[in-house]
Amino acid sequence: MYQDKSIVCKDCGSEFTFTSSEQAFYAEKGFDNEPKRCKTCRDARKKQSNQQTNRENRSLR
Ligand SMILES: [Zn+2]
Repeated sequence: MYQDKSIVCKDCGSEFTFTSSEQAFYAEKGFDNEPKRCKTCRDARKKQSNQQTNRENRSLR
């Protein structure tokens, strides 16, 4: 069984919980790596890369 785990975010340095259900989800998906960033930072990065992709697409047209 999985146990909740505290991980320090690589980006903002705050502690977040890698919950047992998230660990189960990761294992199910075959991810070996634990998350390095808290959810906030992951969402921020996701948004950023989406914006970049949009910008790149636009400049190509
Ligand atoms: Zn963070």
